[in-house]
Formats: sequence, structure tokens, C-alpha cells
Amino acid sequence: MKQNAIMLKLVQTPISPEQVEDQIAENFDVMPKTRVREDAFDVTDEEKINAISEHFKKIMQTLGLDLEDDSLKGTPRRVAKMFVKEIFSGLNPKNKPVISLFDNKYKYNQMLVEKNIALYSNCEQHFVPIIGKAHMAYISSGKVIGLSKINRIVQYYAQRPQVQERLTLQIANELKLILQTDDVAVLIEASHLCVSSRGIKDTDSSTVTAEYCGVFLEPERRDEFLKYLNPK
Ligand SMILES: [Zn+2]
Repeated sequence: MKQNAIMLKLVQTPISPEQVEDQIAENFDVMPKTRVREDAFDVTDEEKINAISEHFKKIMQTLGLDLEDDSLKGTPRRVAKMFVKEIFSGLNPKNKPVISLFDNKYKYNQMLVEKNIALYSNCEQHFVPIIGKAHMAYISSGKVIGLSKINRIVQYYAQRPQVQERLTLQIANELKLILQTDDVAVLIEASHLCVSSRGIKDTDSSTVTAEYCGVFLEPERRDEFLKYLNPK
């Protein structure tokens, strides 16, 4: 019921992507919101890049690296730019993809599965990569989404310091909201470099998380989705 209330509000008044995420966090039982400070976007990207450059230079100096070296000189700024403009750009709601829907003209009313969506994120506990694949399915409630937009939604939420569980929920909740249906499933399988390249150094394990909503809570629908992911 609560979820219908959000959808209604969305249709009535255009609101910012940040407000959408606030509403998701307030209205869903789970709390998938990435914790950012209120003043997180008071400074510009350029100011952030300058500040991170300085901090990263200090980290490199503390490690004993010679910042005069040609190959290292530009690293602090390169890293800062990569953080703000690429791998953590999904922290800023202004980078949220604009999604437009189309009418389901063909009255296709079966499951649509988009699988093997490339997923690159970073774990928020170690700041090293999470690499994997995201798979999703939905059943249209009358509207359909451009397929590449699904990739963009995955990418937007992946480009944050993340934990896989929250990432899965954020993508699923966003898709439910955009597609105006509960009939959404999201499954992510990923390797965490904090597990494979350090610490326990387990290079074989991967982590699977899934969120099934609406009709996908029914075992039959869930099995159909899983069968598409692993055809025999
Ligand atoms: Zn980690």
C-alpha cells in the first residue's frame, strides 16, 4: 500500500532524484539509502577534486612515494577525478539517469529479462572493486523501459561506495518505482576484491544477492527467471 502512495505522488508532482531516494528510504520497510551528509553537495565537483587531490598526495607521501617522479606526479589528481567523476559519481543525485518510459504497444505481458549487465562497484569497507553481473526481470504494468536505461540505473547505484545487499535493494526499489509495478526481480553475482586480493585471498568465491518482489515471490515465476539466467 505504501508503495502505491509513492507512485501516486510521483505522478502528481515532479520531484528531484534526491527526493525520490528519500521517499524510497522513508516508505520501504528496508532502509537502502546510502548515507551521505546533508552538506554533501554544497561544494562543486572541482572543489572536491582539488581537496581529494591534496589528501591523496599526503597518503602517497606518507607511504614514502616520491611525488617528483614523472609517473607518480599526476596520480593524486587522476585519482581525485576518477573518484568524483567516475567511480563515485553515483553519490550525486544530479548524475541520476533520466528515464523515459514507453507505452507497451505490443501488449507484451510476459516476463522481460535483462541479464549479464556489467557491474563495477567499490566496497565501502575497503574501497576496492566489486566486479560482477546484475540480472533483472520485470512484468510490464502498461509501460516499458528502454533496455539501456536498465544498465544506466545499475551503473548509477554501483558508482558509490557500496555493500552488495544495499546495491541490490536500491536497484530493485528504483525499478519498481520507475516501472510502476511491484513485479520486479534483481539478482547480483559479484566477486569482491577485498576477499580475493587481500585478507582471506579466496579467488574462487562469489557473492549472490537477490530481491524478489510482487509475482516473483511465487516460486514458479522465480524459477522461470532463474532458468533464463542459467539455460541448460
Ligand atoms: Zn570489502
